[in-house]
Amino acid sequence: MDLTRSAAEALDAADPLAGFRDRFAGVDDGLLYLDGNSLGRMPLETPAALARVAEQEWGRGLVGSWRSWIDVGTRVGDVIGTGVLGARPGEVLLSDSTTVDLYKLLVAAADARPGRDVLVCCADDFPTDRYVVAGVAAARGMAVREVPADVDEGLDPAVLYAALDERVTVVVLSAVAYRSGALADVAAVTSAARAAGALVVWDLSHAVGAVEVDLAANDVDLAVGCTYKYLNGGPGAPAFLFVRRELQEQLRQPIWGWFGQRDQFEMGPAYDPAPGIDRFAAGTPPVLAAAAVEVGARLVAEAGIGRLAAKGRAMSALLVALADEHLAPHGVALASPRDGARRGAHVTLAHPHAWQLTRALVDRGVVPDFRTPDRVRLGPAPLYTRFVDVWDAVDRFRALLQDGGWRAYPEERTRVT
Ligand SMILES: *Cc1c(COP(=O)(O)O)cnc(C)c1O
Repeated sequence: MDLTRSAAEALDAADPLAGFRDRFAGVDDGLLYLDGNSLGRMPLETPAALARVAEQEWGRGLVGSWRSWIDVGTRVGDVIGTGVLGARPGEVLLSDSTTVDLYKLLVAAADARPGRDVLVCCADDFPTDRYVVAGVAAARGMAVREVPADVDEGLDPAVLYAALDERVTVVVLSAVAYRSGALADVAAVTSAARAAGALVVWDLSHAVGAVEVDLAANDVDLAVGCTYKYLNGGPGAPAFLFVRRELQEQLRQPIWGWFGQRDQFEMGPAYDPAPGIDRFAAGTPPVLAAAAVEVGARLVAEAGIGRLAAKGRAMSALLVALADEHLAPHGVALASPRDGARRGAHVTLAHPHAWQLTRALVDRGVVPDFRTPDRVRLGPAPLYTRFVDVWDAVDRFRALLQDGGWRAYPEERTRVT
């Protein structure tokens, strides 16, 4: 691989997605923003979309606007589902947070497998996922099997398969591991779990908008995910959930709210879940926030997930090669799978002083994030990051290691990392 800056410029010149960068705010401020996997950039269209909902639909339309707002969850859900995730219409709902959606689908799946009493999750999965699994298990008197995973290489499927038996009801797993970026084999895990009589709830938070998920082709049953990462839906944007069409009528989620009710405005005496994906809704959808998600998801769909994933692989391959060349001599080690086919779109590097390095990088105009115990995570979101940004970020990282400027930063961590 040619590791010169001009080679990176040539990759940008040939990039079919290059034009999308100009549709985001703040891209000309010189900042090397490599944290799109934590909070995506703001699309330029978003403020106007929010203003339209606020000024016209709310300001003038008032309560009458509920005629169009009422199905915002399924409408934006379909943009994500059919445009980005390879789902069929009516299989994705925008609602609540990832944490709450995971809870809803986990309980619904566990209820559908009576007699089984074990939940499986990965010991290195994102905290909220492990906590929700532990909470559901505690409430229902179930056991949790936390399968160990290598923090850099991800979960070995053989280890997971060994944990599957006739007691297992639901497996919760991230398609892309938040720390290392390790990519799971979604189709293989789903079918192995099914063969053991269990359902998998996939967490797509670090996958959606970054890698091809192909829910239908991979025969996925259940999934949840974030919209404020690679979908650029904005801080606190509502999450989405996916339930395969054939399963919808068999499942009941535990939050019996009026938005999941059949004939909602009949205001009937008893809960009777709506047919289809609507039954997985609980309360009133966040209409304003959904407008921002719609803008972000449409941009991702327009770019095309195949092209985005290809660019993500190319950028992370460049990042790994540059890190090997320029950072490894200073004690920085790759903490992601080396095989590009086994990675999502972000790359993680390990160094004993990762926290101080992260703070110093931010002050030098490079924004990664820190993850415990000693990781710098770099997420060059393919929709608006240039190859040359990756090159410049590694160059500034190298200079920082060489001049030791990070030593001036305190070792104590701040509340948000
Ligand atoms: C970001 C992320 C979440 C966030 O959940 P919220 O409920 O939106 O706070 C959950 N799971 C994973 C794997 C994530 O990466």
